[in-house]
Amino acid sequence: MTNWNLETDVLIVGSGGGALTAAILAHDHGANTVVVERSSLVGGTTAVSGGALWTPMNTHMKDLGISDSREEALEYCLKITEGRAADTLVEAYIDTAHIMADYLEAKTPLVFSAMTMPDYHPQEKGAKTGGRCLESNLYDINELGEWKGKVRPNAIPFMNHQTTEEQYSTYKMMVNAANMPADLVMERMDKGLTGRGHALIAGLLKACLDRNITILLETRALDLISEDGRVIGVRTQKEGKDYLVKALGGVILGCGGFEWNEKLKNKYLQGVITHPHSPPFNEGDGIIMAAEVGADLINMHEAWWMPALEVSGDEYEGRPYSYVCVTERSCPHNIIVNRRGRRFVNESASYNEMMKAFFFVNENGTGYRNLPCWQICDSQYRESYTFLTICPGDPDPEWIIKDNTLEGLSKKIGVDADGLVETVKRFNGFVQDGKDQDFERGTYAYDQYMGDMDRGPGPAANLGSITKPPFYALQIYAGAIGTKGGARTDKDAQVLNVRGKAIAGLYAIGNTMAGVSGPGYYGPGGSIGPGMTFGYRAGIHAAGEAKKQR
Ligand SMILES: Cc1cc2nc3c(=O)[nH]c(=O)nc-3n(C[C@H](O)[C@H](O)[C@H](O)COP(=O)(O)OP(=O)(O)OC[C@H]3O[C@@H](n4cnc5c(N)ncnc54)[C@H](O)[C@@H]3O)c2cc1C
Repeated sequence: MTNWNLETDVLIVGSGGGALTAAILAHDHGANTVVVERSSLVGGTTAVSGGALWTPMNTHMKDLGISDSREEALEYCLKITEGRAADTLVEAYIDTAHIMADYLEAKTPLVFSAMTMPDYHPQEKGAKTGGRCLESNLYDINELGEWKGKVRPNAIPFMNHQTTEEQYSTYKMMVNAANMPADLVMERMDKGLTGRGHALIAGLLKACLDRNITILLETRALDLISEDGRVIGVRTQKEGKDYLVKALGGVILGCGGFEWNEKLKNKYLQGVITHPHSPPFNEGDGIIMAAEVGADLINMHEAWWMPALEVSGDEYEGRPYSYVCVTERSCPHNIIVNRRGRRFVNESASYNEMMKAFFFVNENGTGYRNLPCWQICDSQYRESYTFLTICPGDPDPEWIIKDNTLEGLSKKIGVDADGLVETVKRFNGFVQDGKDQDFERGTYAYDQYMGDMDRGPGPAANLGSITKPPFYALQIYAGAIGTKGGARTDKDAQVLNVRGKAIAGLYAIGNTMAGVSGPGYYGPGGSIGPGMTFGYRAGIHAAGEAKKQR
């Protein structure tokens, strides 16, 4: 006989976008609902993210004059998954995502807008050059009352919460963080207006609080408790003691991936993430718990890859902080080279795809050919664009590596000088011709959108000569904004065993669930969108199970 500390209908583990959506839906379908969150703050990676959710056929696309159809979305998604995600799940995603977004707008304080950012593979059939991605409008954090300070803040000073993602582009803050309208940001800070992932989580949290959903912080789920083959609860740890929660309808694991678990990373990933970008709490607990009761784990070699930069000493939650590398590879006047001084990828392509080239193996079969690698740029770049934490006009900090010649720079970073000089010469030729013959950089709408559009549209948004000394180098590391392998599920996020049979009472969503895009990334919001969509479906299903079990 288990001595339960708390009994409920549906227990949600984690408090990211998918988890809170699941909590809202379970409640609205008649279930008593409890959320347990390991850290002292709500929102996980979702709260520090851009907060975008990829939502094909969403109702706001028409505001941008863009149409969409199930056929187009499906054709595009099936191309991106390369057959490595179940078609039934992809279809469930496409059919449900827009319904989920409409529901949240109708039943919670969230108001969404469509973004102009293109899908990540705009050259593929069925892709759109904008509109499929939704984000929350600015949200007044004061609405949260005493929970106001409980939404996880961002560590990056210029990736602040006071603008939306769309405004981030409109104000051209990505190319130069100093373009941030400081007065406006100050005014919004005073008013408590927040944007991006912070706003998304704040709106979802408010909806949970309005429904009196219990949220237990600093409560870490550790083991599932089963009876007669059905998951009926969880052993958590709270203030150093066991705290047992019974869940009549089911347990929904939405506690992220395993990017902070060294053992799991070494065991599964195709290339090891040395620099995770998420808050350091996703240690694969949900995936381990699911595996313990027989879950089939799939897609485990994949991650939402994102090249990383670091400034020695910068920390978040007591761990080294990894900056995302976007501007430094998308804007003109830079290239990325390996230790031979050779380019190896379209630097401006989607982060998830371009980073796979980091893990190409040396011709002799051992070691990575393209790691370590460096961004190389010149003074034209430094005078115009954000360079890690500094802006044009800022003095060079002590960590900067620069030299008046490419040969000198090569020596400082251990890169083959002849290779680098030859590569830069070849690249400058492409710039002059307006065409990157090697990697097609700047050819696609996505590349250009992420570059300097004042010089575009066209490849000039991404291509610029590297000619003006001093020259600079930044080491780029293998990062990820999360992992995307996990428990295989059906379309209601019920966890499946290796024979494809549902494990009663167990659900996985977000990065605890095996990703529905296989190795790929559909577009902006391609991670949170599925997380919230399957959170929506899991919440409804688990509430139905609770009714049956009563
Ligand atoms: C800078 C940045 C920008 C990004 N921008 C976007 C974007 O715009 N759109 C997009 O789609 N994706 C984006 N991503 C990726 C996206 O944020 C994540 O992939 C997604 O939020 C993961 O959602 P999740 O719910 O699985 O995990 P999380 O949001 O990380 O939530 C998991 C939660 O579970 C908690 N937890 C872990 N273990 C336990 C346990 N044992 N018990 C209880 N709680 C536990 C964690 O503390 C955490 O709060 C971005 C990521 C970063 C870092």
